[in-house]
Amino acid sequence: FPVENIRNFSIVAHVDHGKSTLADRLLELTGTIDKTKNNKQVLDKLQVERERGITVKAQTASLFYNCEGKQYLLNLIDTPGHVDFSYEVSRSLSACQGVLLVVDANEGIQAQTVANFFLAFEAQLSVIPVINKIDLKNADPERVENQIEKVFDIPSDECIKISAKLGTNVESVLQAIIERIPPPKVHRKNPLRALVFDSTFDQYRGVIANVALFDGVVSKGDKIVSAHTQKTYEVNEVGVLNPNEQPTHKLYAGQVGYLIAGMKDVTEAQIGDTLCLHKQPMEPLPGFKSAKPMVFAGMYPLDQSEYNNLKSAIEKLTLNDSSVTVHRDSSLALGAGWRLGFLGLLHMEVFNQRLEQEYNASVILTTPTVPYKAVLSSSKLIKARRAVQKNMIFIDQNRVMLKYLFPLNEIVVDFYDSLKSLSSGYASFDYEDAGYQTAELVKMDILLNGNTVEELVTVVHKDKAHSIGKAICERLKDSLPRQLFEIAIQAAIGSKIIARETVKAYRKNVLAKCYGGDITRKMKLLKRQAEGKKKLRKIGNVEVPKDAFIKVLKTQ
Ligand code: GDP
Ligand code: MG
Repeated sequence: FPVENIRNFSIVAHVDHGKSTLADRLLELTGTIDKTKNNKQVLDKLQVERERGITVKAQTASLFYNCEGKQYLLNLIDTPGHVDFSYEVSRSLSACQGVLLVVDANEGIQAQTVANFFLAFEAQLSVIPVINKIDLKNADPERVENQIEKVFDIPSDECIKISAKLGTNVESVLQAIIERIPPPKVHRKNPLRALVFDSTFDQYRGVIANVALFDGVVSKGDKIVSAHTQKTYEVNEVGVLNPNEQPTHKLYAGQVGYLIAGMKDVTEAQIGDTLCLHKQPMEPLPGFKSAKPMVFAGMYPLDQSEYNNLKSAIEKLTLNDSSVTVHRDSSLALGAGWRLGFLGLLHMEVFNQRLEQEYNASVILTTPTVPYKAVLSSSKLIKARRAVQKNMIFIDQNRVMLKYLFPLNEIVVDFYDSLKSLSSGYASFDYEDAGYQTAELVKMDILLNGNTVEELVTVVHKDKAHSIGKAICERLKDSLPRQLFEIAIQAAIGSKIIARETVKAYRKNVLAKCYGGDITRKMKLLKRQAEGKKKLRKIGNVEVPKDAFIKVLKTQ
């Protein structure tokens, strides 16, 4: 396939603006999938994507399109829109020369429209603005055109107005892809350089690497080497994604496809790695910035005997989602497990759900926390406000873009939901890392009859300590069984008690069912009670069942 007839592009948009629907129409128009079928977000292959109706994984599809007697190869990469998955977006963009920026004709420019535009702009890609959903009653494409001109400096006559749902004017999107997006700049005569931009693990075939070829050719039987590990492999299969895998004889520079080369171990296929021919090793391609996790949570097997199974499930899933970081960890209460880093809360939930659905794992996930750096100096004396306004841009009369500096832990858990309900769903939100800031944080201990519970020590902001401490004490009260004596549950900062709950005394009378004086039966029951207690952890004189920790530590 001549390089000048290849276009590599991606579709980016704010969530729900219609990327996946537009992808369906493009697949139909190019005959890649059958038009008669009731196609709905066909690129969303994962169960979690179907259930939540969102895209979490970038997907690749190769389309063939005839235009003025020439056949074109269009490689489409559908991307997730939610802020937590922008790492997927930026990785996909490295294999593209242009993007379709889809904007809802009713909602106009939203937070992730802006974020995605700048990802594409920084990567110096051609941006084709597509105003979607013009069939809606309240659609106002002219207003959106003006927004696009004002915010992105793209002339309004470059906007293509479509209805992805009805298929209206989608042909002109294909035309624009051919006219406005340049072919990839690649060299077929040079030795092979293939960028691994994604990979998945197949139980039977091992690692399936998604590759973009920048130089050369690769075919079945070639001996290749990984620039990252220096290991060599023989290529078993190459092909394109249509959107399902379709083997081909060769892949040429400019093409996007997949490659299977007997990589059996999940650690062998690094995303961002460059694959070269064994006999002609080359300088590796730049690769990717590694993702920076923002939210951390502990993950433990529900049963310790499941540890090894869960370990292998996590390894396989992180291969497919390389933005998750994994460190071994252990907890007094929950046993051996891991500390996982995610890009956001939704990302964490989706990862958890995929573990359950795709790997049948049952796990305990602890309440997420964000990273802090502790500096031991008097500068914490500085009064830090929790949010600082940075700038404000009016997108049009009705919409304004506000930029704030926020402490991450304030936005991580429920900020997005509160913002949505406060603004009746009108506001949208995106964030990027602004580095560490000083803040007045305190270490909060949870005490049971005066003894610290190591498992429950947390770092919180001074102003929030009271309410968080109170909530933890209440949850603990609900999950602690009554014991022979009263239990004081306290939250403390240093020596200062900030919250307290009490569990009243109660005697569990195991002898109640013993009528006569049968001493052996009495002893047996008392022994059984003692054994039951071994599953408990003793903190001072208070016995805490594993359950109670799980209830306090778990999300929700
Ligand atoms: P994505 O999150 O950007 O991938 O958006 P989807 O393609 O999943 O679409 C989100 C919702 O908008 C779905 O319910 C679609 O049926 C709907 N939708 C997409 N395009 C159009 C359109 O042109 N007109 C109308 N009325 N609805 C659309
Ligand atoms: Mg989608």
